[in-house]
Amino acid sequence: MKTLGRRGFGAAIAVAAVLGGALVASAQGGPHPRGAAAVDTARQLAADREPGTWMSAARTLDEQRFSPLTGIDRSNIGGLGLAWYGDIDSERGQEATPVVVDGVLYVTTAWSMLKAFDARTGEKLWEYDPRVDRAVGQIACCDVVNRGVAAWKGRIYLGVLDGRLIALDARTGKVAWSVMTVDPAKPYTVTGVPRIINGKVIIGNGGAEYNARGYVTAYDAATGRQIWRFYTVPGDPSKGFETPELARAAKTWTGEWWKLGGGGTVWDGMAYDVESRLLYIGVGNGTPWNQKFRSPGGGDNLFLTSIVALNPETGTYVWHYQMTNGETWDHTATQPIMVATIPWKGRPRRVVMEAPKNGFFYVLDARTGKLLSAEKFAPVNWAERIDLKTGRPVENPVARYERTGKPAIVSPGPLGAHNWHPWSYSPRTGLVYLPVTENNAGYDSVTEFRINARAYNTAVNAAAAAPLYNAPGAPARGTVKSYLQAWNPATQKEVWRVPNATFGASGVLATASDIVFSGNHDGEFVAYDARTGARLWSSPTQAKVVAAPSTYTIDGVQYVAILVGARGLPGEQARTSPVSANNSRILVYRLGGTARLPAEKVGPDSTISSTLNPPLLTGTNEQVIDGSASYARVCSGCHGANAVADKSIPDLRYSTTLHNWLEWEDIVVRGVRAQKGMASFRDILTPGESETIFHYLISQANKDKATEQAARRP
Ligand code: CA
Repeated sequence: MKTLGRRGFGAAIAVAAVLGGALVASAQGGPHPRGAAAVDTARQLAADREPGTWMSAARTLDEQRFSPLTGIDRSNIGGLGLAWYGDIDSERGQEATPVVVDGVLYVTTAWSMLKAFDARTGEKLWEYDPRVDRAVGQIACCDVVNRGVAAWKGRIYLGVLDGRLIALDARTGKVAWSVMTVDPAKPYTVTGVPRIINGKVIIGNGGAEYNARGYVTAYDAATGRQIWRFYTVPGDPSKGFETPELARAAKTWTGEWWKLGGGGTVWDGMAYDVESRLLYIGVGNGTPWNQKFRSPGGGDNLFLTSIVALNPETGTYVWHYQMTNGETWDHTATQPIMVATIPWKGRPRRVVMEAPKNGFFYVLDARTGKLLSAEKFAPVNWAERIDLKTGRPVENPVARYERTGKPAIVSPGPLGAHNWHPWSYSPRTGLVYLPVTENNAGYDSVTEFRINARAYNTAVNAAAAAPLYNAPGAPARGTVKSYLQAWNPATQKEVWRVPNATFGASGVLATASDIVFSGNHDGEFVAYDARTGARLWSSPTQAKVVAAPSTYTIDGVQYVAILVGARGLPGEQARTSPVSANNSRILVYRLGGTARLPAEKVGPDSTISSTLNPPLLTGTNEQVIDGSASYARVCSGCHGANAVADKSIPDLRYSTTLHNWLEWEDIVVRGVRAQKGMASFRDILTPGESETIFHYLISQANKDKATEQAARRP
């Protein structure tokens, strides 16, 4: 822990102990009707008494993402199959963990859209689209994602990319209230999960790459009224500081940082400890990354890259621990935070843990923030170690490009050795399951810098460092490798790792059957043995997986749910009858599940579009009728009856070739795609048949597109 000065610190803890005492379990969660979303403090605190409920994005307030369920175990997991799936009507990154409470599964998608499914059958009960202005995507640093919802007393709470926080009726999806949590004129975005503690909805925001000043805000869950706001970096000193801590934090900044916003956004990690009654928030990087332009005289720049402990009742500062002092590499501390009781020097100790971008695994005392240990969980070259006496990193001076005036390759880079991808802790194995991405990046100082609120503000010239990769002993460039890692936080040692064939991180779930579930970027959902890392089971997802699974029971049957889909398809897969080009779906598994995903097309096919987009029909009625018969005779065996593909062969209604008659003739008659399995039909078709089939397909595609559009109309 670092104090901001002796005065006030002890008093802050005393205040927290009194005001934070409101969370007391008064009743056990009982049976509730479907859609009740009847979450309250008593039910949150008794979450382990109803292990079949996944009550919040990380299941419990301590955010361990551990399930006590044992219905699926290592002896029966071979029988795990798809129970149901739901297609998601948005492309791009899908990062949400499904929340499952009172029989309903709630999941958010790209563009902050929300869907509610019957958790047993997959029947879609309702959906809600906040209709985000797509221009907001320009200020979303890292895709237009959303990581999930919170449930509370019959409502579902959704943070929206454009900065809104919306409360919806859990049964109907109707808006109960909506508040704007940011100044819409400024480049803020919201992608994180709202947390609800004692009736207060707590939400952060992103935008530190633009010129945002970070903060978290608490709203009354019943009304949407603002209760408190905590700023993570000091503002303009001439306007006075909001809190005494910010006045002291301002002494760690130099220059006119407030004109750039400062950064320090809280865009993801938070956790709450029921024992110390503290809320922990993870604070992001500075604006811009390069400290020379942000705070020219150096300094720690509090509370960038810190865990800050707050009293959730009042938003009052209690303690902080800064991970990368005076950060200059986009080393945020916004990564997932968890609270656990772990063995520590022979006794149980209540700790807060984080494995942030900077590559060190931190274990802090939950009550005081005292640093207990910090060790590298991945290759790190910006610091040699963390000094346990001072709590500060022992830096590698070469990494400070903005001070040396020389380019440097720094590991980890902005991607982080661990980013937002959820991790999990099993109290049974005592291990943390962590998706690790080994990477590095080049940094050099730009010579001039001006803030641009609609553009990425790093003040870093990465290209200048490129020649360094050619030097002897230089690391492999960029994204080196990734793996699922089992880490013992008590000994700070790796126990096992499973390398990923394709680089990328995916969220993690551990269960009381000593199973770890996680997806990968090859398009698989996999179960591993929690003690050894041995692969126990896998299922194809037809999409990259970046989100984390959740698990729940309905009528005693255990289900495992995972949202799949991300930018870029795994391998070369593409959906044959696309809803979205990245195969975004919610997949739900159970023992004995027999559902099947639609056939997927294997192999790249640049002529198949992701949506029905045919040209206008120019053929005659007679040509279409003739073409229908010819198609049935010649084409339907492979391409499917009525022009609807039913196996791994392109669905011709989606073919871009329908826009190009000459290309069609090249393929069908001249056989230019013979190498791909589509030989010439010159000798099979009668004269004119190729043309009538062409018009028939255009006709079918237009009909089906009209049907689709009619179905979408409310
Ligand atoms: Ca950042």
